[in-house]
Amino acid sequence: MSAGERRALNENVFRELNERLEQLGEEYGDDAVEFLCECADPACSAALSIPVSVYEAVRDHPRRFLIVPGHQGEGVERVVEEHPDYLVVEKLGEAGEVAEDTDPRP
Ligand SMILES: [Zn+2]
Repeated sequence: MSAGERRALNENVFRELNERLEQLGEEYGDDAVEFLCECADPACSAALSIPVSVYEAVRDHPRRFLIVPGHQGEGVERVVEEHPDYLVVEKLGEAGEVAEDTDPRP
């Protein structure tokens, strides 16, 4: 497995965790839910407070992830949305392919 693949897989693990956090959050309506930063750093445990509706809009795209501003990786993803508390990034190349292969909502 290449380093790029390994990094992409880590992000997909966080995406799976967030899918579960969302299910818990939905019981409380559309208030902001604590999600985990989906960046490529395995040591990152930053939390993001985001409404479920925003999370849902990102999950509609298999290559898009939610991360803390500044956690984006050069060359492997591009920022598609910038907000004060979070960024939406889209995976490029190999990382994007891995993200699509492991899409929790195929
Ligand atoms: Zn992070």
